[in-house]
Amino acid sequence: MAVRTAVTRSPKVPEVRKGDTVVVITGKDAGKRGVVERVVRREAAPRGGRSAFRRGSSAGGVSVVVEGVNIAKRHTKPRQGSTSGVGGAPRIEPGGILEVAMPMPVSKVMVVCSSCGKPTRIAHATLENGRRVRVCRHCGEQLEVKS
Ligand SMILES: [Zn+2]
Repeated sequence: MAVRTAVTRSPKVPEVRKGDTVVVITGKDAGKRGVVERVVRREAAPRGGRSAFRRGSSAGGVSVVVEGVNIAKRHTKPRQGSTSGVGGAPRIEPGGILEVAMPMPVSKVMVVCSSCGKPTRIAHATLENGRRVRVCRHCGEQLEVKS
């Protein structure tokens, strides 16, 4: 019987979810931490070839928008914001330079474990009820996003 050893050499895309704390591991923002605001899954590249875009972990097309990280500066004109802000006071957006977090490839960030506080690789585990959860490789705690 050929038992395949579980080799996890391929830099598999960790499942990052909205609300996770991540640390940037490369690029100009390396070392910064932030909370994932959004996960952007791009559909499989239109230029054919590889099919399947597998659920959960499609290599490649996943980007994340992390609060305060990978900031792009947008130049804007002053304008009046909506009145839906706190207290109903009209918010005047002063214009000038607006800082917007841009999506970055998920491979550039690492999830920070909320239990032990270390950047970690994600392991997967299946609970008795069949639910798949993400688990910290350092401390073994589940990394579920409280929502
Ligand atoms: Zn941990």
